[in-house]
Amino acid sequence: MAFRDNYDFGILVNEAERLVEEELGRRLEELGDPGICVCEDCILDMAAFALNSLKPLYRVSLLGTMYAHAAMD
Ligand SMILES: [Zn+2]
Repeated sequence: MAFRDNYDFGILVNEAERLVEEELGRRLEELGDPGICVCEDCILDMAAFALNSLKPLYRVSLLGTMYAHAAMD
């Protein structure tokens, strides 16, 4: 049995992903620029680019979420 079969790594969440998704959506809506491609490939590329420039904010619990929010403030 593989190591990861013993644990639920699915509850490990990078809170930075949620923050990037929200901010990306907000910025694109504000800009409303028809010159920016919003196909899935381009949006995911933008999100990956942003995430690679940010410090990850992993959490495994509600307390972790609160800590991540406080750190972003
Ligand atoms: Zn595109």
